[in-house]
Amino acid sequence: MANAFKGVYDHFLWSSKRKAYVRNVEKAKKYKCILCAIRNNKLESRVLYKGRDYFVLMNIFPYNLGHLMVVPNKHVTDFMKLDKRLLCSLMVGVQKAMKLIKYTYKPDGFNIGLNIGEYGGASIKHLHWQVVPRYKREAGFMEATADTRVVPETLDQIEKDLLKNVSKVWKK
Ligand SMILES: [Zn+2]
Repeated sequence: MANAFKGVYDHFLWSSKRKAYVRNVEKAKKYKCILCAIRNNKLESRVLYKGRDYFVLMNIFPYNLGHLMVVPNKHVTDFMKLDKRLLCSLMVGVQKAMKLIKYTYKPDGFNIGLNIGEYGGASIKHLHWQVVPRYKREAGFMEATADTRVVPETLDQIEKDLLKNVSKVWKK
């Protein structure tokens, strides 16, 4: 059995979580908005904090260790129509997400962004801020040669590490 594919593939990459992921993607297709479905606990995800105006979750395809997203609870799609109060509250959320990452992973920099419109790279219409920590040493062999991002920790472990610091950032 081990040699059944001999001569067909040189390498196999075993991904035990793939099946659960595919199942979740299939389930996600049922919902008009993935982020609303996550907010309403209809879809599995890694939400770290839920507040009055926004929630914070891990990006499950992280660009880097600790990559988070800050998402308004309300299904808002037009940045220009955000009222000042909500906008301020969301920016505080972004600031706190940065703080959480700083406490946990001490990055050397950040990229913070909002993708707007199909041609702006927005795959989900529901507005959400990407909070991406940057590290001095992050591009290695795989990035340079194989178009592959290496995240040096499992999502489970990252979630555990971040959750430890959540109460330091969002005090009750
Ligand atoms: Zn939505």
